[in-house]
Amino acid sequence: MKLILSVLLLFGSISAGMAKDVPTNVAELIDNNAETCYTGVKGKNKLVFDVKFDAPMLSYKVFSADDDSKHDPVEWVLKGSNDGKKWKTVDERKGQIFCARYQEALCVVENPAAYKKYMLEITAANKEILKVADVQFFDKNLMKGWEDFKYPTINFIDKAEGTEGSKLYKTLVQNPDEYIKFHARKVAEILYYTADDQMVDVQNIRYTLEDTDGISAKGGNSPRINIFYSTRHIENSAHESMYKLDFETRGVLYHELVHGYQFEPKGVGNYGNNKIFWSCIEGLADGVRAESGHFDMKTRRPGGNWMDGYRTTGFFIQWLKTKDPDAIRKFHLSVRDLEVWGWDEAMKYMFGSEATIEGLWNEYQDFLKAGN
Ligand SMILES: [Zn+2]
Repeated sequence: MKLILSVLLLFGSISAGMAKDVPTNVAELIDNNAETCYTGVKGKNKLVFDVKFDAPMLSYKVFSADDDSKHDPVEWVLKGSNDGKKWKTVDERKGQIFCARYQEALCVVENPAAYKKYMLEITAANKEILKVADVQFFDKNLMKGWEDFKYPTINFIDKAEGTEGSKLYKTLVQNPDEYIKFHARKVAEILYYTADDQMVDVQNIRYTLEDTDGISAKGGNSPRINIFYSTRHIENSAHESMYKLDFETRGVLYHELVHGYQFEPKGVGNYGNNKIFWSCIEGLADGVRAESGHFDMKTRRPGGNWMDGYRTTGFFIQWLKTKDPDAIRKFHLSVRDLEVWGWDEAMKYMFGSEATIEGLWNEYQDFLKAGN
């Protein structure tokens, strides 16, 4: 009896009509926290999601866990049901490979329809025990407009082979090419509206791991750029947990990839000799990083100036989204369109002639002082 009780507690409610051993609404899978994972069994696992869906789910994400990639799901069938008895296949995946730990596989539902419940029949490779971090459902097709994104080619070179940082990177990232390509698309999604937009053409990224000081930097100019990532920084970032290392690694990658995909301001000197130019470039890179969820937003503090660059500027640009959901894209368009770019000019471009950089910055400061 004790065993049955603990199983009930662990797996939450049991749907009527389902066999009693079908885990339903598994907490670790629906907590939007890739750090916690569900450990299943060898062979086919059935997992039910019964959270009273009220619209057809058009896409979903399955996240790999932090464990050895041999436990990753390699194939699954997604089924929908209204009564928990009759199930209809809505999507199917085979030969799935996750390029990294805590990595999403975004799937567009092939046959969407309104169902109250969903069930995943999901299996790891070679009859290994299944481990999955999260499953998320969306009533939007999150790939819409990005199906035709032109991925860059990647030259990944580990120049720090044998270092602790290099080993940690390999534990985190199994396929660097796919991992960098994934983040390239994510950056473009934040900077642009669709893959058909007029876009900075990044064709090739040479990405190196290097046993050197510093964190990461982008060099070269589109269409061919290079990015290095310090294995010493990897080592320092791994002290707390692999999840923290992942958070930092993705955050840094977002920032550097923005430098590949962003337009550069015109008419205001250059990166090295003009603070307006520099704060625009570094502010937007950290703004996109903040928007991607790879900054601890609790570290935002009042103070500073919009031209301080990096996260002081980046948090401000990201906050502009409270005024307009497309604020980051519009900010970026101001960089493309204005013949002489400036902070005040950009705010007027985005919000109309009444807007000023002082006014918006002060409003943002009030927002921060109010404890947000
Ligand atoms: Zn930068």
